[in-house]
Amino acid sequence: MNAEDLRAVLHDIADRAVAFRETRAEATHRPLCSYAEAQAAFNAAVPEHGIALQELIRELATLTEPGLANMVGPRFFGWVIGATEPAGMAADWLTSAWAQNAGNAHATPTVSACEEMTGRWLLDLLDLPRQSSVGFVTGATIANFTCLAAARGEVLRRVGWDAEADGLFGAPLVHVVLGEEAHSTVFSGLRYLGLGAKRVVTVPVNEQGLMQPGEFAKAIAKLDGPIIAIAQAGHINSGGFDPFTEIAEAAHAKGAWLHVDGAFGLWARTCPDRAHLGRGLELADSWGVDGHKWLQTPHDSAYAIVRDAEAHRRAMLIAASYLPEGKERHPADYVPELSRRARGFATWAMIKSLGREGIAAMVRRHCAQARRMGERLSAESDIEVMNDVVLNQVAVRLGADMDGAKADALTDRAIARIQRDGVCFVGGANWRGRQIVRISVISANTTDADIDRSADAIISAWRAEKHANAN
Ligand SMILES: *Cc1c(COP(=O)(O)O)cnc(C)c1O
Repeated sequence: MNAEDLRAVLHDIADRAVAFRETRAEATHRPLCSYAEAQAAFNAAVPEHGIALQELIRELATLTEPGLANMVGPRFFGWVIGATEPAGMAADWLTSAWAQNAGNAHATPTVSACEEMTGRWLLDLLDLPRQSSVGFVTGATIANFTCLAAARGEVLRRVGWDAEADGLFGAPLVHVVLGEEAHSTVFSGLRYLGLGAKRVVTVPVNEQGLMQPGEFAKAIAKLDGPIIAIAQAGHINSGGFDPFTEIAEAAHAKGAWLHVDGAFGLWARTCPDRAHLGRGLELADSWGVDGHKWLQTPHDSAYAIVRDAEAHRRAMLIAASYLPEGKERHPADYVPELSRRARGFATWAMIKSLGREGIAAMVRRHCAQARRMGERLSAESDIEVMNDVVLNQVAVRLGADMDGAKADALTDRAIARIQRDGVCFVGGANWRGRQIVRISVISANTTDADIDRSADAIISAWRAEKHANAN
């Protein structure tokens, strides 16, 4: 393709991107078509002949845009999803244009050097042990997996077993201790590692979903041999934090490796008036945290952080005769993939764009907005906020004065109505035996006015659903 044609296409997609983004604030927050309609739109035989790029882009946009969720929108509170801010998006576009295979430092020195520096920035911002190694992975699922692989190798190495060489057959048993409400993806990581999703010791949690120090100590006291303990910074419904100082003390007294799943919650450490929530988590041995949630990088972006860099590298090292070695940091030695995107650039760009102050201000603002949302909703007589809103998550129970089964059914219908109305987007969950509305305030674009408008939309959908049910 010649330079003129390429320029025309890139200008065209820049225009499309701007047109898409500038309409997000007032656009419906749910996708405008169903899955079946999206399938029908894409349904076609393998094309026999290629077509011109400009035409192809036009077709892609036409087929795609009706089925896109408004995740950039300022009132998107579903799951825990960042808004892909322009700095990260721009760096990501260039990353594609540069076409680097990010595996090896000799092949592409700037990729590795940028990741190394950005990794140090992350340790500074999150105030984690500065000697830790950082792997740039796709998401917290894989960050947790990577950290737990390092944990598995190290706790077995300490009892004379080389898991990297000899696997788990015949190995000493490894105990895994975690809270009853650990995130589902932590169990996925345990499955991939041969540790088993069910072969775990679960510690009872309190009404915020948090482990209690006494319960944790009791659970771990009964165990002998290699132990991996997993705690959580940012419970998926309550946003709460496990009591890390006590957990770390009890874990280390038993020689356990302590991992923290901090997919979004770890960012509380960047904000002086929220940092107390994560007190003591710096005592852990590894941490998984996302960029594509609170830091607003494009997907996919997360960080596997391990205090013992050698344990990290032993677990992930990829060696081959055709890969140059040397003292340099090879990105592939800290993540599960060899060939991959140079995703460190987008993280570097987001940190440059916001700065320490900007990140802290954003986290503070989201936490205040979550409290505001909680206050607005609980002003309605039969709406109750079930969690202490310490962070950005609000767990809302509709029909607090109703029979449970009836409230659950109406809650599901109210969520569907809120999504249909499209002013904002919220998801549901089942927590403490009840259907809840789950609200995550984490988009860089959310203003206080968006919170008020969304609270009004949620309340009026709830009233309408009760009214429809009464008739
Ligand atoms: C989102 C999340 C994960 C999984 O992260 P992905 O980036 O989706 O892979 C793990 N743990 C917690 C607490 C989360 O919120």
